[in-house]
Amino acid sequence: MIRFNPIPFKPFEYLKAGGTKRLFVVLWLLLCLLVVPSGMLTRIYELTGIPISLFGLEFHMTVYFPMLICVPMCLILGYYWAAIPAYLSTFFVALLGDMPLYWIVVFALANPIGLAMLVLMYRVIPADISLRSLPSFTFFIMASFLSALAGSIGSFIWTYSNQVGLHDFILVWQGWWVGGFVQTLLFCSPILYFFAGKLLQQRQRLVPYKHIKAENWRSLKILITLITLILILFTWLALKVSMLNIKDLTSGLTDSNIQEQIFEAIQVLDVPIVIYVCILAFIGYFSFYFIDFWTMRLAQVNQSLQKKNEKLYQLSIKDHLTKIYNRSYLYEVMNEIIQSLQADNGSLAVLLIDLDHFKRVNDKYGHQAGDQVLQQFSESVQKQVQSGQVFARFGGEEFILVAPRLDSTSALKFAVGINETIKKINTDNPKLAQNLTTSTGVYVTKDLSQSFDHMVGHADKALYQAKRNGRDQVVLVTDTDQ
Ligand code: GH3
Ligand code: MG
Ligand code: MG
Repeated sequence: MIRFNPIPFKPFEYLKAGGTKRLFVVLWLLLCLLVVPSGMLTRIYELTGIPISLFGLEFHMTVYFPMLICVPMCLILGYYWAAIPAYLSTFFVALLGDMPLYWIVVFALANPIGLAMLVLMYRVIPADISLRSLPSFTFFIMASFLSALAGSIGSFIWTYSNQVGLHDFILVWQGWWVGGFVQTLLFCSPILYFFAGKLLQQRQRLVPYKHIKAENWRSLKILITLITLILILFTWLALKVSMLNIKDLTSGLTDSNIQEQIFEAIQVLDVPIVIYVCILAFIGYFSFYFIDFWTMRLAQVNQSLQKKNEKLYQLSIKDHLTKIYNRSYLYEVMNEIIQSLQADNGSLAVLLIDLDHFKRVNDKYGHQAGDQVLQQFSESVQKQVQSGQVFARFGGEEFILVAPRLDSTSALKFAVGINETIKKINTDNPKLAQNLTTSTGVYVTKDLSQSFDHMVGHADKALYQAKRNGRDQVVLVTDTDQ
């Protein structure tokens, strides 16, 4: 599937950039040189309002060459790349006529408006522009129809400035939109079917571009309003056409009674048409309502999901019992810490703290009392932790503190402080606190090329030494001790 993914309209920037981007703009300008004068062909060969009969229906159609190129160009390159040549071609064709210049300036906007409708539909609905599936082809038919209707406003200006009567105006208008619609279907769809993929590939080669715009609700709302308005206008004008045709047909009748009866018979249609228009407006309005409703609901769900996510993340990085960070969070942030230290050649201190004879505490005072010790100890140490340092539960009754840019003397002092902390914690049983001690292994290093696990290994050896030396103490190792 090939989605509509326009490239930004920056021809001057591309020209300056040189290389393939410049080549792209040059090719585009050459194409414009072909497209812009091609509008004259319609005039020279008088291809306006040609009567045709399709599936038994009579139409007046206009063949307008610039739009044959501009419609695929619009879907493959982007709006302005196509709207500018479309504008210029109509502008120059109109200059040849009798239309005053100020009307020409407005009149030439008709096709760019049609293209805008097309782009708007493709921006909102991610359909395949290479029309490879039935839904994408059906969507293209619908988009071409609405685009032709939107573009046909040009016929109003044309007939107004040429002071054409109402009857001819209707013909011009019908020729305009039917012509636009039929020619887009007949000629643009094969171009898109066979070449959209290849052309887009070439475009990517010349101007690499990734961004695909997400569908946005605002565009969808504008689209719904426009579609509703255009369809209502279309219905009203189509009704006018049929009334005028009937007037024409019956004008020769001598019996005015028959004419009146025919009018009455036709007026029966008024009620369903009014209902149809009301339903259209109703659907348009409720589409708004639903969009707003669902946008609000989605925003609410999104907000609550974000909150839950944040909560889950906090839960996933914290230890359930002590509420300090867990081991996995420590490993998560360690890479970043080590990298920042490597950048300014800083040192790192790793303190591995283990509660002494903790099994005995559990055995003597119970598991709950043991839990309370772990909680109180964590809370007291956490208060001493400074910004940039990470204090985490390493497992069981073992804790780890990582302190960037702390030299051996300060690290030792800090560790001794922590060993004092355990003696001052508050527990339900005062006797319990008196006998609590910790052992700490400290490793301070400037060698940040080693893995964090390796550093913890050194701290663990120091801790083992502290235990062997009789517990309740700190053992420091540095790189020079190795
Ligand atoms: P040492 O001084 O050699 O470290 O002796 P120790 O008894 O502290 O070490 P050991 O590794 O033999 O036992 C650790 C004990 O810590 C065993 C376990 O019951 C206790 N422990 C681990 N996690 C928790 C916990 O979450 N809550 C409680 N209450 N006890 C825990
Ligand atoms: Mg222990
Ligand atoms: Mg232990």
